[in-house]
Amino acid sequence: MLRELAEKTGNTARRVEAAILGTVPLHEKALIQRIRRAAGSGAGRVRLGIGDDAAILHIPAGQEVLVTTDFTLEGVHFRREWHPAESVGHRCLARGLSDIAAMGGEPMAAFLSLALPPELPQRWVDGFVRGLLRLARQHRVTLAGGDTAGSPGGSGVLADMVVVGTAPAGKALRRSGARPGDLLYVTGELGGSAVALGMFFAGKKASTQAHRRHFFPEPRVGIGQVLRGMATAMIDLSDGLSTDLHHICQESGVGAVVEAAAVPRARSASLEQALHGGEDYELLFTAQPSRRIPERIAGVRVTRIGEITRRGVVLAQAGRREKLVARGWEHLRS
Ligand SMILES: [Mg+2]
Repeated sequence: MLRELAEKTGNTARRVEAAILGTVPLHEKALIQRIRRAAGSGAGRVRLGIGDDAAILHIPAGQEVLVTTDFTLEGVHFRREWHPAESVGHRCLARGLSDIAAMGGEPMAAFLSLALPPELPQRWVDGFVRGLLRLARQHRVTLAGGDTAGSPGGSGVLADMVVVGTAPAGKALRRSGARPGDLLYVTGELGGSAVALGMFFAGKKASTQAHRRHFFPEPRVGIGQVLRGMATAMIDLSDGLSTDLHHICQESGVGAVVEAAAVPRARSASLEQALHGGEDYELLFTAQPSRRIPERIAGVRVTRIGEITRRGVVLAQAGRREKLVARGWEHLRS
């Protein structure tokens, strides 16, 4: 059996045995076969998934295609000693899903290009794929293709994720639609992910349960679609409220005032962490003042935190106004 598998996959029998035990990585062909089996062949709008030269996606009439791509790099976006493999796979896909959510779109397919260091245990790769596919199934997204390669010496795990989604033609939400007088809202609570990172940097171990927001963030896909008919502009909070709000203001040519006391904070998060901590993957959006916004959407709190103005991005706190500088979390670099 071992020899047969070895011949089929271009590995030596010893290597196949070690790979099954999870101590060394599988060679590329075997790895792709394994991922293909786990990913399934595609269904519904994904007419053809992994296994041919290209995937075939069916786009229903009246829909537009949304495409987003994100790098997940070891040492920049995660550390193997801090993040379990499942969390890295989950977060890798969550970033793309969150971008589709921020457009008010519906994700359909994902494409993963993965470069792995030669010493990486197969166990790690399996955990990564498991975490990624679990989230994919929750959102009915098919892993429909990708590529694998060895990563150049010392550069660790490199993952490039492409997520494809759809939105009704002309209806996708942009960053550029905010107007002075619009109200500013955010979903969920902020700073939760920064709390976990703060613990890592302090040399403490964050708990995957207590700090789920960091390890297994939930992209707000369903909420994004609900907001498609209500919001004037939207962005997902990947870099932190201060930085992502500047993106909306820049693209819309407006300013904003944020009420510090109104910013919803995650447990143990400071105002600093809520304003500047990244990777919460909540949605920041604007809506006309006449538009009634529900207090909760799909069980998640929606909070009004400020207003769009003509110019300048400011924080209002205890009767004072100060400039809100974009100091978003630069992942593990800070
Ligand atoms: Mg984004």
